Amino acid sequence: MGDPTTARRSALQHAERLRALTETERDMIRLVNRDGFGRWLEQIQNIDGCTHPIYLAGRTTVRAKQTGVVLHHYDTHSSEPGGVLAVRCRNRRHSVCPPCSRLHAGDTYQLVRAGLQGGKGAPATVAEHPRLFTTLTAPSFGAVHSRDATGRRCRPRRDAGNCEHGRPLGCGIRHSENDPLLGQPICADCYDYPAHVLWHAHVGELWARTVRTIRRHLASTAGITQTDFRNHARLSFAKVAEYQRRGAVHFHAVIRLDGPDGPDTAPPDWATASLLEDVIRNAVATVSASPPYSTGLGEYVCRWGTQLDVHSIKESIKDELITPDAVAAYIGKYISKSVGDAGGTDRPIKSQREIDFRKVNRHLRTLMYTCWRFGELPELQNLKLQKWTHTLGFRGHCLSKSRRYSTTYWALRDGRTNYLRGALLFRDNVETVTESFWHYAWSGYTDGESTLATGIAHDIAQSRQLTREVLADFDGRWPDDATD
Ligand SMILES: [Zn+2]
Ligand SMILES: [Zn+2]
Ligand SMILES: [Zn+2]
Repeated sequence: MGDPTTARRSALQHAERLRALTETERDMIRLVNRDGFGRWLEQIQNIDGCTHPIYLAGRTTVRAKQTGVVLHHYDTHSSEPGGVLAVRCRNRRHSVCPPCSRLHAGDTYQLVRAGLQGGKGAPATVAEHPRLFTTLTAPSFGAVHSRDATGRRCRPRRDAGNCEHGRPLGCGIRHSENDPLLGQPICADCYDYPAHVLWHAHVGELWARTVRTIRRHLASTAGITQTDFRNHARLSFAKVAEYQRRGAVHFHAVIRLDGPDGPDTAPPDWATASLLEDVIRNAVATVSASPPYSTGLGEYVCRWGTQLDVHSIKESIKDELITPDAVAAYIGKYISKSVGDAGGTDRPIKSQREIDFRKVNRHLRTLMYTCWRFGELPELQNLKLQKWTHTLGFRGHCLSKSRRYSTTYWALRDGRTNYLRGALLFRDNVETVTESFWHYAWSGYTDGESTLATGIAHDIAQSRQLTREVLADFDGRWPDDATD
């Protein structure tokens, strides 16, 4: 006690311990001792531990319209640590921000389900309208290594021989699920890279033509003119694009037939699910789209692949896979995926040299080079292939839907903000005026902040999973993930 040697030893040990800490750990100690740490933690909890938060500074004042009395005033300068408020990055991709992608998937689930079962402003009667869940595929651009669930050999042909490049046409391997060969061409020189890229660049047009053709065939079957069609029925859809391993997109789409004013009106008697299926099959088999003629490339016609799945969506029957919930969950899952999940890259490409440095397999790299080179051709300028090199030429949105399908992301978000705000005040119907001044301050975390946020995100995800499991035991349904 009081021994100078002991005191000195303890001081040295303390210094030693501090030195042993990593930069991140030291940052965390700084952070925990910072003023307003508790509130910062609360902010990050409110955004579920978002990976790339955006910090905003500003103020909002709500006044009663008639009297001008201030009902609510919020200013980050006086009430938040550092004078800023963290908001979500709202990225839909799991590879960029798992917490926000989960929220986005939940919103997509709500949006798709509302169009199938009603809710969120759509009437419950939509469940009685003809509705189909379809998967539209890309055609073959050349044989690729593949595997199916039954574990068959890839391309078993004993006397298949070789292609003109001297490579075997068959492949006797039973590929495992994580085999990097999957999706790679059997012969890269045989693979039609130009066709693949041109197909991607025109698949949006191909889809638009398919929808028009479905409408036209429905009209002619019902014996009405195309212009008159909208006075009888309306075609609604929500679709999501999914990249396969070979780097080509598939579309999963919910297609629904409504009455003339959309989901609120009953479809006409002739509008049955089986008629809709016939018309879809016919349209998918016949439509095409052509790129502008190019002297270098010749003529090319884009069509759908022959593989087409059409399922009718049934009411929640136990053990029936194609229920509204299952379809909504399926589309919700794909929304968080991107070309990155198929081994590609999520960031746009600015130069040809950049393609060399991206971590992608040879097949996807070749597709990117093809995009980049075609992007230089004057006759293909309108396809903006260089801008869309990272998506392999595909310019579409991940999720697209017709205007009258169901609610929108904005409505869902607005509902959420109003719900949070409503918990605070404005219960009585006072007319109010809101003044807001906000600006971007900065974004992202320091290393220590990031470690804490990851912990928060992990805890939240785990407790949601637990709730989901408990509820799943309870009635076999998903809880409303996105309405928290
Ligand atoms: Zn985020
Ligand atoms: Zn193979
Ligand atoms: Zn070959």
